[in-house]
Amino acid sequence: MAVLQSAEPGESTAPHEHRLAVGIDLGTTNSLVASVRSGVAETLPDEAGEHIQPSVVHYGETILVGREAEKLAIQDPKNTLQSIKRFMGRSLQDADKSSLYDFDANSESVPRIITRQGSVTPIEVSAKILEALKLQAERTLGDELTGAVVTVPAYFDDAQRQATKDAAKIAGLHVLRLLNEPTAAAIAYGLDSKEEGNIVVFDLGGGTFDVSVLRLHKGVFEVLSTAGDTALGGDDFDDLLLELLLEKSGISTTASLSANTLRALKTEAKSLKELLSEHDQVKVDFSYDGLSIKTDVTKQQFNELSDGLLKKALLICRKAIRDAGIDLADINNIVMVGGSTRMPVVREKVSDFFKRPVLINIDPDKVVAIGAAIQADVLAGNKSQGEMLLLDVLPLSLGVETMGGLVEKIIPRNTTIPVAKAQEFTTFKDGQTAMMVHVLQGERDLVDDCRSLAKFELRGIPAMVAGAAKIRITYQVDADGLLNVSAQELQSGIQAEIQVKPSFGLSEDEVTTMLKASQANVQDDVRARSLREQKVEAQRVIIAIDSALAADGDTLLSDEEKQKIVEARENLYKTSQADNEDVIKEAIELCEQVSADYVARRMDQNIKTAMAGHNIEEYK
Ligand code: ADP
Ligand code: MG
Repeated sequence: MAVLQSAEPGESTAPHEHRLAVGIDLGTTNSLVASVRSGVAETLPDEAGEHIQPSVVHYGETILVGREAEKLAIQDPKNTLQSIKRFMGRSLQDADKSSLYDFDANSESVPRIITRQGSVTPIEVSAKILEALKLQAERTLGDELTGAVVTVPAYFDDAQRQATKDAAKIAGLHVLRLLNEPTAAAIAYGLDSKEEGNIVVFDLGGGTFDVSVLRLHKGVFEVLSTAGDTALGGDDFDDLLLELLLEKSGISTTASLSANTLRALKTEAKSLKELLSEHDQVKVDFSYDGLSIKTDVTKQQFNELSDGLLKKALLICRKAIRDAGIDLADINNIVMVGGSTRMPVVREKVSDFFKRPVLINIDPDKVVAIGAAIQADVLAGNKSQGEMLLLDVLPLSLGVETMGGLVEKIIPRNTTIPVAKAQEFTTFKDGQTAMMVHVLQGERDLVDDCRSLAKFELRGIPAMVAGAAKIRITYQVDADGLLNVSAQELQSGIQAEIQVKPSFGLSEDEVTTMLKASQANVQDDVRARSLREQKVEAQRVIIAIDSALAADGDTLLSDEEKQKIVEARENLYKTSQADNEDVIKEAIELCEQVSADYVARRMDQNIKTAMAGHNIEEYK
């Protein structure tokens, strides 16, 4: 395969040198690092011999990460940041304000949490965790790392993935690739060595539940569906036990308890839960700050309490399977992931639901890191070519031509295939009934600098005003590297498509040359892109003025006003023929200034037309 190779161009390694690469499971609750040593993938311990690090950072006099940080959660909750993964790639608006941290109200888009060491972003907090894992690995392996595969939930969007990559960069890690957590788990079980199959990955962690349905086809994983609940996890089981403990000690509400007592009680409930995974009955002897609880809790009691949460999880499984478009009988393997799947009741219920045994041989809290390590080993070039075909990637981005000879990337380079991505576009002119779809490959911003793969036209778009039609363009690359592009107008449903073979005729050398060119030309491209964008904007303004003047220029404007607008439009037209971005910008601004009143009058008129025959009260 010339184009769809797994290694980055120019990065293949000499066979004798072993490159140190690790897999990192950056979890909401816990994080781990693993590596392949002497052919075996295993998680790496820290100095204290612990493999699992709580994803906790404490900002005090100094910055502490992991277990040391977690110990301070009770006494210094506001400076002890936990579950930070929930905020990754999210804006302050999306952030869950119910968490107990103080958010900086001035943070613009990225939320900032106020700590004793100043305000910090979720990316920086994650970077601290990654940095600690990197050190932990380098200490054990005895050398610097060449790269890491970092796992992310399958449902993470671009912003969340980018935030994770940024965190790795800050931590000084070279990210070989982000890998979906369920795929990593499947790799750990060696399921990738099979030819075909449907795999369900059931991941019940500390605070989140994710279920993914994967399809393995010709050695490539495809995510068929994901479902889950971002507020269902081990913590909820802890809460059930916390309530039980309070009930047994006659306390009806947590309102009377201090934040610190509550944290201490939660910690007690959590260890009680974990003990109940091993024992049929556990003695509780808790005392903190004047509150004392002495009682016995049985596994039976706990299982009964858990029933509601498990029903909820299984309902989500059902949805994932339905979304994947397969039947229960089509499932070949169920992989258990996440510390909470250590609970025997979880294993039983899931196994009952799928009517088959579930895979539990590999530690459910280590399985993701182990799979990531196996993948890192392959990507670092420690495996022979033959074994590298597992996850193929696109070596160059695939994009579509947009107005002004610009390329909009639809699928970025290095995306694992098979993949499908869609983006919506719209019409540029009033009454436009056809649209050209020009498929391009390459990293550069201008059509002329990319490789043209195919062109086709979508005809029969219903005539609408500019910008009203919704045209969805979908790029789909299958496991064999074949690209299928389709365009559909969403209102009428009309559709056109074409199949392209992107690998045709492009050698590895050509790929390398194109990549080098794209890096060398970044500056030029940025300038060229913004000039073209300005020209497109100019064209849009001219078209808008023309169509407005034709519609009501004579009724809404005096001759003098109209004259001014026409002059500004002529000026804009002239400047847009030359290549001075600033001058075009000024000409656009002038057009906007002289037509501001006109725009307002048109708006009034439109509202009047729309409200004709209605009572003003209806709109209040
Ligand atoms: P995440 O993926 O969210 O980082 P993990 O997979 O590490 O989380 O799972 C953490 C959860 O697993 C915690 O709620 C913890 O209490 C739970 N857990 C760990 N060990 C056990 C056990 N033996 N029995 C029950 N729950 C456990
Ligand atoms: Mg996890």
